[in-house]
Amino acid sequence: MTDRLVLVINCGSSSIKFALRSESARKPLLSGLAERLGTAEGVMNWRAGDTREQVMIGDGKHSTALASLLPLIERFADQPLTAVGHRVVHGGEHFTGAQIIDDQVIAAIEDSSPLAPLHNPAHLVGIRAAMAVLDDIPHIAIFDTAFHQSMPPHAYRYALPEALYRDHGVRRYGFHGTSHRFVASQASLLMGLEPGHGAWLTAHLGNGCSTCAILDGRSLDTSMGMTPLEGLVMGTRSGDVDPNLHSHLARTLGWNLDRIDHMLNRESGLLGLSGLSNDMRTLVAARADGHPGATLAVEVFCYRLARSLAGLAVALPRIDGLVFTGGIGENSPLTRELTVRHLALFGLAIDPAANATPPGNPARQIQAGNSPAILVIPTDEERQIAEECLVLIELANTQPMEKED
Ligand code: ADP
Repeated sequence: MTDRLVLVINCGSSSIKFALRSESARKPLLSGLAERLGTAEGVMNWRAGDTREQVMIGDGKHSTALASLLPLIERFADQPLTAVGHRVVHGGEHFTGAQIIDDQVIAAIEDSSPLAPLHNPAHLVGIRAAMAVLDDIPHIAIFDTAFHQSMPPHAYRYALPEALYRDHGVRRYGFHGTSHRFVASQASLLMGLEPGHGAWLTAHLGNGCSTCAILDGRSLDTSMGMTPLEGLVMGTRSGDVDPNLHSHLARTLGWNLDRIDHMLNRESGLLGLSGLSNDMRTLVAARADGHPGATLAVEVFCYRLARSLAGLAVALPRIDGLVFTGGIGENSPLTRELTVRHLALFGLAIDPAANATPPGNPARQIQAGNSPAILVIPTDEERQIAEECLVLIELANTQPMEKED
């Protein structure tokens, strides 16, 4: 079979992240980031193997950035693209999987925009620009929320009046679906289970953090909710707080909603707790020097993470393993160790030598003796997106597609 190529695009309001993935290579053939779009200082940095270059995007337009990608694709691809995969944050309740983009899918992304006002409109800009530039191949949307559409109502409903769900879509959706799905499938491979099988607790710990309970490839519950603020302590996001906090701050400090939103999303989490940084590397180093704020931030992060994992465990019939991924999950032995210490009730225990293995290693096991598996698995969302695109295209070629929505 020929080695098919997919261009993966993640378009934000002022940036486009891209990667050219081939089916067989573990690393992208070409990857990069166009930034400061919408300004006169638009710039695109790309790399392919050891070659790195910068291209100025004079008019700062998304379409110009995408057009300047075309010669690069021709240079580094040995055959035409099969598809373009677009990461889309919110698909609402419209989609349970990848979708070939047409007018209906665009309308559904627009319809979900109130749930992701910063992301979905920006994705649409990128989708429209890319469809204009690469107009002869399928464009496919991969939704962060789609993987979690398998959650049962008892996991996704808030205890709020029914009309808020029915008429306004107020429910838990979950995010990071591509990453949770990818590491769970890698976990089955690593543990020699049937592909896609197993009962996993996964922890995606980057700047945003979430946990997920996955049974045989289906998300049964996750820590993020209607927005990516719910759940764990994150870099600058608070995670769960008392829902009465808003009214308390409004009444006692006179803060308006924008002020409170900003505080919860940008000034809280590791940054707020430590008073030092949102970056776990900085905090681990400061903790070693005895910085009290950093010490507290790391402790709260790990305790709340363990509490979330313990809570999600009730969604599973058993635990085949706990998976750590994302920048923190893959690279911070301290975070893994402190978290798993709180999970002794589940028989989980870490082997200190395996845990200390330096980063940059492939997926590996770090559990001690009789503990259920504890795995460190590097996530690769672009690879997952490319794979989902190719599966969808094969399906579309072999059988008429049934449209979701
Ligand atoms: P994003 O969500 O933006 O993709 P990443 O997955 O790259 O973020 O994760 C970023 C986080 O990973 C930061 O908090 C960073 O400090 C942390 N991190 C990266 N390497 C290490 C390390 N060696 N030790 C501790 N934390 C690390």
